Amino acid sequence: MEGIYILLGTNLGDREANLEAARQYIQDQVGTIMHASPIYATAAWGLLEQPDFLNQVVEIHTTQPPETLLQTLLYIEEQMGRIRRVKWGERLIDLDILYYRNEVVDRPNLQVPHPGIAQRRFTLVPLADLAPDALHPTLGKTQTELLEACTDDSEVKRHSGN
Ligand code: AMP
Repeated sequence: MEGIYILLGTNLGDREANLEAARQYIQDQVGTIMHASPIYATAAWGLLEQPDFLNQVVEIHTTQPPETLLQTLLYIEEQMGRIRRVKWGERLIDLDILYYRNEVVDRPNLQVPHPGIAQRRFTLVPLADLAPDALHPTLGKTQTELLEACTDDSEVKRHSGN
């Protein structure tokens, strides 16, 4: 796993505009977006009675170490006025660090690689687009292998217009 990958998710308001704004904030406050996956529409996970999510993964170049990157992403969520009523509930924007090269971080407030990767199709489908052969640093499997082994059966479909 060579790159630094961020998952963007949104299911409130103008979702395409939210993704675009988040990418702009990332460019301004984090670093360069090297690659961006297609946008996928995903049935909400955890709580079903809410609008579909749009998800996208971006690979970034940044000089910020993992903890600083997390603080910057949380600050971007705050600047974008994230509304978070319940865990897994509706949200304007959610930004997760998926991978930070091959680094493994296990702190109370930050786990990298993100612990949900292997269980979530909405994360693995765009990761397999961007980095199909990249190895998960602790599971030792590629993104394609993780996707093939994933038992999450929620629908993840290409969002029209991208
Ligand atoms: P959530 O909004 O449910 O994604 O949770 C946000 C919280 O998850 C943040 O306040 C972080 O402290 C914590 N967290 C732990 N690991 C990560 C990660 N890899 N990326 C983003 N947030 C993380």
